[in-house]
Amino acid sequence: MDGSLPQALFPLLRQGLGGLPDSLEAVARALSAHRAYLFRLEARGGTWYASQLAEWAGEGTSPQIQNPDLQDLPMEEAGYGRWLEAFLQDQAIGGPVRTFPQAERPLLEAQEIQSLLVVPIRVDGALWGFLGVDDCQRARGFTPEEETLLRVMAEALARTLELWERTRWLGNLVEASPFYLARLGPEGTLRYANPALRQAFPQGLSLPVEKALARPGRPCTLTAQGARAVEWTLVAIPGPGPKALEVLALGIDVSEREEARLQEARWTAFRRNLLRVYETLMAEGLSDSIFGLILEAALDTIPSAQAGSVTVLMEDGNYHFVAAKGYDLEALRQVALRPEEPLSLTGHAEAQIFTWRDLQRFNARLDPERRQVMEEAGRVGEIQAILSVPVYLAGERKAFLYLDNLEREDAFGPLDLELAQAFASQLGLLLRRLELEGQLEHLAFHDPLTGLPNRLFFLEKLAQALKEDPRGLAVLYLDLDGLKLVNDLDGHAAGDEVLRAVAGRLRAVLRPRDLVARQGGDEFLVLLTGLKAPEEAVGVAERLLEVVRLPIPVGERVYHLTTSLGIALGEAGLSPGEVLQRADLALYRAKGEGKDRLSFFEAHLQEALRREMGLLEALREDLERGQGLWLVYQPIVDLQTGQRVALEALLRWRLAPPSEFIPLAERHRLMPQLGAFALRQACREREGHGLPVHVNVSPQELLDPTYPQRVAEVLEATGCPPEGLVLEVTESTLIPDERGRDASQSLQILRGLGLRVYLDDFGSGHSSLERLAHLPVDGVKLGQAFTQALGTPPDPSSPAARLVGAVLALAQALGLTPIAEGIEDAQALAYLKALGFPLGQGYFLGRPAPLYNGDQ
Ligand code: C2E
Ligand code: MG
Ligand code: MG
Repeated sequence: MDGSLPQALFPLLRQGLGGLPDSLEAVARALSAHRAYLFRLEARGGTWYASQLAEWAGEGTSPQIQNPDLQDLPMEEAGYGRWLEAFLQDQAIGGPVRTFPQAERPLLEAQEIQSLLVVPIRVDGALWGFLGVDDCQRARGFTPEEETLLRVMAEALARTLELWERTRWLGNLVEASPFYLARLGPEGTLRYANPALRQAFPQGLSLPVEKALARPGRPCTLTAQGARAVEWTLVAIPGPGPKALEVLALGIDVSEREEARLQEARWTAFRRNLLRVYETLMAEGLSDSIFGLILEAALDTIPSAQAGSVTVLMEDGNYHFVAAKGYDLEALRQVALRPEEPLSLTGHAEAQIFTWRDLQRFNARLDPERRQVMEEAGRVGEIQAILSVPVYLAGERKAFLYLDNLEREDAFGPLDLELAQAFASQLGLLLRRLELEGQLEHLAFHDPLTGLPNRLFFLEKLAQALKEDPRGLAVLYLDLDGLKLVNDLDGHAAGDEVLRAVAGRLRAVLRPRDLVARQGGDEFLVLLTGLKAPEEAVGVAERLLEVVRLPIPVGERVYHLTTSLGIALGEAGLSPGEVLQRADLALYRAKGEGKDRLSFFEAHLQEALRREMGLLEALREDLERGQGLWLVYQPIVDLQTGQRVALEALLRWRLAPPSEFIPLAERHRLMPQLGAFALRQACREREGHGLPVHVNVSPQELLDPTYPQRVAEVLEATGCPPEGLVLEVTESTLIPDERGRDASQSLQILRGLGLRVYLDDFGSGHSSLERLAHLPVDGVKLGQAFTQALGTPPDPSSPAARLVGAVLALAQALGLTPIAEGIEDAQALAYLKALGFPLGQGYFLGRPAPLYNGDQ
C-alpha cells in the first residue's frame, strides 16, 4: 500500500476530473479490489436517489456502468436507508456482503460483489455522493488504513468537484456574460472570445496588449471609442508555454453611461449659460441685447449649431430678425416675414429639424428682393440643417429660435432638439417680460448701437410724410468721412464710440419732430417735415455739418471727423425709395466735390447717373469684346543721361478719359477685368520696346488672393520675364480693409516671382514717412501733387520742398528706387535732378503715347 496513495491521487490532482478514471483504477489496485466507482447522491422531492457516474472494473470483472438498476436508485425504497444514514453522518459502510441486512443483498449479489467499502463524499459541506470499491472474489473486511486511503481519495475528489463546480459556474458565467471577455496572445491575436464579444465584434478587434504586457499582473484600463464606447481592462498573466504571457481582457460597454455623461454635461452647460444670461440681465437690465445673449448661449450649448437667428412677431404682424450670429443682422432686419410665409417656418407647432431642401423650397416662394437678402445676408445657400423652435406666448407663436448647421444635413439629434426647446422656453419668459415693459416694438425699429430708429422705421415714417405733405419734407442723407480710419487705427470699439457720439449730436441739434435714423455703417438719415421753404433744410444741414466737425473725444484720443450730406426734397408721387435714392445721389456728389459739404439733389444729377450707367454698359461690352481699349506708354527717364529706362503703361478707352472710367470701374468692381486686360496687353507688347514695363494695379485686383497666381500665368503665357514687369500699387492697397485684410502678403508673393513693386503717387493718400519703412516695395513714385507744389520755379524753402527732400532721403536710406512724377518743365527737372532723384517722369520728359507712332 506504500506509495499507492500518491498514485491514486496524482491523476486527480494533476488533471482534475479528467484524472478520475486513472485514480479509480489506482485506488482499486491499492485496495486489491476489482471495481472502483463513483456514485452521485441527489435529493429530489424528499427522496435520495443514487446514480453511478464513473467506474473502473478489473479484468474478468463485469462492468456495471451500464447497469440500469444503478441509475436513479431510490435509496430508502430500495433498502439502503442504512447507507444513507451512515453517509449523512460521514461514516463508511464496509465488509462482506453476506453480513449486510437481507434487503441490501440482492442488488449487490447480482453484481457478484463479495465485499465492499463505500465512503461518503461531501462537497461544500453537503452529501454529494459516495466512492466505493468491490471485492468480487473474497469475503473480507477492510483495515482502517484501507478505509483512510479511500477517504483521502474521496476528499481529494470532493475538492476537485468543488473546484469543478465552481469553475463550471465560472465558465457558464463567462459564456453568458454580457461583458466582453477575451484571451489574447502576446501579439494580440484573439485566442478566446465569449459570445457577447463575438457578437459585438464579428470582425474581431485589436486591443493594445503591449500596455498590459509591459507590466504583467497589473490591470490597465482604457476606454475605446467606436460605434460604442467600451471600457477595457487588460491584464497580462502567465499563459501556456514557458515564460509565455497572455492577456485577459474584460470589456464593459459604457456607451450608455458615456451618453448619459454627455447629456448631463450639456445640460450643465445649458444651466451655466442660462445663468450667464440672467447675470447679464441683472447687471444691465432688460434690453434688446437679450435675444443675442440667448442665441449665443444656445450656440454655445449646442455645438452642432454653428450659426443662428431669432425672429420676433412685432406689432405690424410680421416676424422681424432681432438677433443673428453668423449672418448680417443689419441686412436681415430689412426682411419682414409674414406669419403665413413658409420661410418663417411657422407651419409647425413644435421644435423641428429642417434641411436645406426645405429651406430652398421656402426661399423660392419669397419675392426676389427678400430672397436676395436671405441668400446674401442669411446664407440660405449654405445652410444644411436648421433646428427651428417656435416660442409661444399666451398661445401665440411669438418668436422663433433658429439654429443652423452649415456642414451636415443630419447634424442635429434629439438632445439638440430638447436643449433648443429649453432655450426657446427661456426666450418665451423673457419676451413676456419685454412685452410687459413695452419694449418689444422698440427692438424692431431701433439700431442697437446708437439707439436711433433704423432704416425700416425711417422708411415707414417717410412713406407716411409723403402721403401727408410731400412738399414740406426733406430727406438728408449723411455719410461720415474718416470713420474707416478710426476703425483702422484704433479698432471698432473706438469707431462705435464715435458713431454713438455723432448720433447724440445729430439728435441734439434737431427739433423733436424731426427724425434721425441710422441707415447702417457710417450713414445716417434725417427726415425734416413741415418745411415752409427748401432753405430751411439747408440751414438744418449746415448745423449738422457743423456739429460733426467738432472734435470727438474718445478715451484719451480726440477725433476730427466731417460728414458729407445730400439733400432731396419731397415731391408728390415719389416713393420713399425714390426720395432716398435722390438724397443718396446728392450725397455722392457732395463726396465727389471734396467731402465735408452738402449737395442738393438736382435733376441733372439724375442725368449724371444715367450717363454713368450708359458708360458702364459700354465699358462692359468693350471689355467683353476686347475692343475700344488700348494702352499708351509714358517713358521713365534716367535724369542724368536722359535715357528711357522703362515705360509706364496707361489705359485708354474710346468713350471717356482715365480720370472718369477708372473711378467708374472701381465703383462697379470692373477693375479686375480692366486690370487683367492692361497686364496682358502690356506684357504682350513688351517685345516691341524691350524695356521694363510699369503696369498700374488697383486695390480691387490686389486684394484678391489669387492675383499673384494670375500674374504668374500672364508672364508664362506671354513669355515676359519677371524682371521686365513692375507693378505700381497705391497706398490704399496696403491699408487693411474692414476685415483686416491687406495686400502685403500678395505683394511678397509677387516679389518672390522676381518682379518689382513700386508705390505709386506717394504723398497723395494718408501715408506717412514712417509707413514707407514697412511696406514691401522696391521703389516709390513721388506724386505729381508734390512736384507741382514745389512751385515754378521751385522754391527750396517751401514746405513741399522740404518734404520732397525728406522722402528722397528716406527712400534712399531704405534702398528704395525713387521716381519723381509730374515733371512739366525744365526748372522742375533741374531742381529734382540736383536734389538727387535718379529717375523722373512727366510731360516734359515724354507724354503718354501709343507704341510705334514714330515718337517712341
Ligand atoms: P498714374 O499711375 O499716377 O499715372 C500717371 C498719370 O499722370 C497719367 O494720367 C499720366 O498721363 C499723367 N501724367 C504724366 N506726366 C504728367 C505731367 O507731367 N503732368 C500731369 N499733370 N500729368 C502727368 P492718366 O493716364 O490719365 O492716368 C490716370 C491714372 O489712372 C493713373 O495715375 C493710374 O492711377 C490710373 N490708371 C491708368 N491706367 C491704369 C491701368 O491700367 N490700371 C489701373 N489700375 N489704373 C490705371
Ligand atoms: Mg502709375
Ligand atoms: Mg503716379
